[in-house]
Amino acid sequence: IRDAQESRGLGDVYKRQLKIYCNHGVFRDEQINGQNFYVSARLGVDTYQAGITDDLDKSVNYAELSHVITDYMQNNRYNLIEAVANNLAAHIFKYSKLIRELTLTIYKPEAPVGLPLENVSVTITRKWHTAYIALGSNIGDSMLIIRSALDAMKNNASIRVIKESSLINTKPYGGVEQPDFINGVVQIETYLEPDNLLTYLNTLEKEAGRTREIHWGPRTLDLDILLYDEQIINTSRLMVPHIDMANRFFVLEPLCEIAPYAYNARLNRTAAELLYELQKRTER
Ligand code: ATP
Ligand code: CA
Ligand code: CA
Repeated sequence: IRDAQESRGLGDVYKRQLKIYCNHGVFRDEQINGQNFYVSARLGVDTYQAGITDDLDKSVNYAELSHVITDYMQNNRYNLIEAVANNLAAHIFKYSKLIRELTLTIYKPEAPVGLPLENVSVTITRKWHTAYIALGSNIGDSMLIIRSALDAMKNNASIRVIKESSLINTKPYGGVEQPDFINGVVQIETYLEPDNLLTYLNTLEKEAGRTREIHWGPRTLDLDILLYDEQIINTSRLMVPHIDMANRFFVLEPLCEIAPYAYNARLNRTAAELLYELQKRTER
């Protein structure tokens, strides 16, 4: 247990190698005859409740988890250990909500010789982050489109929808003549990194039939990342906190409904402060 993390309730309480005989691999021989794999898992667990209650249900049962990992490794088959690691991580997070961080290493030391293309081990780290996503639509059945996007997020193993704002009717922003919008904000937890989260949101936009024609013009679905933990990201593809959120009632009102304390590190303001300042500035 790492003391440094105890202060914020995250204990690093597990590190072990499991030896598991299974059949992952690209080659027929590997798939049919199998070989030994070794899995090590390092978990960041919320140990606070277990510490004060001494109750096993409030902790991760490591013996049981070892069986969960073994069963998963043996009952599924992937070509690449990268895919093994990625899917096993999703499975472990599903197993317990107390697990907040996970570093997994999959070793395949007996990988057939003469196959230089495959790494014999892969290590991945996954961590739950908090993000706020703005949703908007003004073409088609906007309520339905937004609800379907929320359902898709709820069915994605790498996302947990924590809180949803009301969906509100708003006037278009930015001067383009177009129908009114439906807008809302959702708080999620995700272990997708910001760039991968944006890619996923873009696929939801495409599924809703989004095309990009006029800037700030009408759209079936628009999904913007408002905040991602307290990170500041400035890349050509992604600016977080969202660069224009301080000027938008249709973002700040639903955000304040669910998380007035949400912190914009770029502006050093909470959502409530930004809304108050926008109201003062526009005398609304
Ligand atoms: P606005 O971002 O001013 O609300 P918009 O949503 O209409 O405008 P889009 O056409 O949807 O703009 O997106 C333009 C580009 O913005 C996207 O290709 C994306 O790469 C980039 N982008 C930058 N920061 C973000 C963010 N925080 N969330 C979503 N997209 C972002
Ligand atoms: Ca937008
Ligand atoms: Ca957008």
